Amino acid sequence: MHLSVQNLNKTYPRTEVPAVSDINLDVQQGDLVALLGPSGCGKTTTLRMIAGLLEPSAGSIRVKGKEVTSTPVHKRGMGMVFQSYALFPHMSVLDNVSFGLEMRGGGRRGNRKAAKAALDMVQLGHLAERRPAALSGGQQQRIALARALAIEPTLLLLDEPLSNLDAKLREAMRHEIRSIQQRSGTTTLLVTHDQDEALDMADKIAIMENGIIQQYDAPQEIYEHPTNKFVANFVGKANFIPSTSVRQVGEGRYSIEAGAFGDLTVPGVVGIKGDRAELVLRPHRVRLMADGEVAADRPRARGQIIASSYTGNVVSYEMQSSDNDRVIRIDQLSHPADRLPVGAEITVSFDPEDAYLV
Ligand code: ADP
Ligand code: MG
Repeated sequence: MHLSVQNLNKTYPRTEVPAVSDINLDVQQGDLVALLGPSGCGKTTTLRMIAGLLEPSAGSIRVKGKEVTSTPVHKRGMGMVFQSYALFPHMSVLDNVSFGLEMRGGGRRGNRKAAKAALDMVQLGHLAERRPAALSGGQQQRIALARALAIEPTLLLLDEPLSNLDAKLREAMRHEIRSIQQRSGTTTLLVTHDQDEALDMADKIAIMENGIIQQYDAPQEIYEHPTNKFVANFVGKANFIPSTSVRQVGEGRYSIEAGAFGDLTVPGVVGIKGDRAELVLRPHRVRLMADGEVAADRPRARGQIIASSYTGNVVSYEMQSSDNDRVIRIDQLSHPADRLPVGAEITVSFDPEDAYLV
């Protein structure tokens, strides 16, 4: 393992609730791992302990098998980029990028060469003599990245690096950072509260809530097979259908009664105990059935559209089902001309294999 974090804990002085509890995290060489969770869940605290900027209350951090828990920050050889890029305004771009190298000693010529190479990597070699103030937000962001990469870090630590950029640029920079990270092969930890960013960029995502990692998996696993309701709710949109008479019928398979949808057999988290659970059904996997359509083998429910919203490519409906008070959300890729009015009676169905019991 390139990075191995074990039982990491942090309780800040004069506080009672731990900010981070028993974090375990293994990161493979060359991977980009996202720490994803709502504000205040302990992402920055975790990252700062790994960086050496904050002393853990307990636990250990190993890089390439070597214990670094007590190693001072400047000896860990990690590169960091924060939300505020923290570039020095009075220095040229090139001097900013060579700064980290200068701090570590080494010859000036070699340092400048390495800094140039890092600038070329982020495709800003031509701006080497500019001052940061003369650059756009996206360019400053890339300079900060070049500065972190110039030292050829053992680990690249990014704390919400894109949150100061506007939406369009943020998306472009996602791909830029990802591609630079892959080309340089730098093992990277990315802190973000943005699920799209994590899904788009990461090899693996650690979902955090209240200082605890709730799930650590590849993006697709997190989305398709969330281990609990928090994860399903935080990543992507979800309908939660209360299900009763839950009975295991195989490894990770259950027979359930899913309210208006009736008796079903569905995949789910291994080891659900008790006879109640919730069925996660993504809104875009709910299908509007055409009038008179028969799909005998599919669960279905009838109801009335009580709200709809239009966001260009998708129309989202809320359907109140007729036989109980449940509201089902439905996302349809559709033409605006097809949009159904509020009050319309509809029938919806889904493939049970596309749902997931938690
Ligand atoms: P995130 O980065 O996920 O938003 P943080 O790691 O910054 O979360 O914070 C985790 C928790 O620790 C929060 O409840 C926050 O209020 C608390 N916290 C962060 N820094 C300090 C500090 N210096 N002193 C006391 N509590 C802190
Ligand atoms: Mg933070």
